[in-house]
Amino acid sequence: MARGELFSTALQQRERVRVVQEFLDWLYAVDRSPEQQVRSFWTWHAWLTPEQAAGPAREQFDRIIGATRAWRWEKLRHNWIARLNGMMNRLRLQHPGSVQGVGRSLVARAGRDGREYLAVVPVMPQPLTEENFEDLVLDEVMQYLDGLAVAAVGNCAQCGRLFFRLRAKRRLFCSTRCKYEGAPSTKRRKAGEKARRAQRRASAGGKR
Ligand SMILES: [Zn+2]
Repeated sequence: MARGELFSTALQQRERVRVVQEFLDWLYAVDRSPEQQVRSFWTWHAWLTPEQAAGPAREQFDRIIGATRAWRWEKLRHNWIARLNGMMNRLRLQHPGSVQGVGRSLVARAGRDGREYLAVVPVMPQPLTEENFEDLVLDEVMQYLDGLAVAAVGNCAQCGRLFFRLRAKRRLFCSTRCKYEGAPSTKRRKAGEKARRAQRRASAGGKR
């Protein structure tokens, strides 16, 4: 999704959840180089489209990638996964998960239509470290989830991955792959039903 497109519009709840889902996709992705991992993270966090990342914003974008390339991204990734899951598990407890206070400022941003829009942006801690950045990102993710039905939050029955179920019918699995790996009996049952239906059609055709 071109997150840059959303700059000048209030994010709808569904879009907000999609932004978090993109973060989860980044968290759980495994087949990428360390360079891709850093680059795709900042593309997500900076709300850039690939075109924007290669265009006017490039210099600034490359600078932040250069400054954070040596971070222990695998450790960050694991911490984010563990802390998000911990927060979801502690929803109804007296001491739910929290993050260190993050400063925010209200700024005016130019939209694509030339008008200016208010934006609440996190204040990047100085100096930016892995530790304070970990909280900053979780704070952002928590805000996007504000107002979401608890029933939409799920853990995949096969791989355990955190995901959101925005349809009325609640999925048990995060992906089609997990669905078939996790419930081969369901697949077999469906195949059986299909075969029976075909048989009924064939026999009904025979009577005509
Ligand atoms: Zn899964």
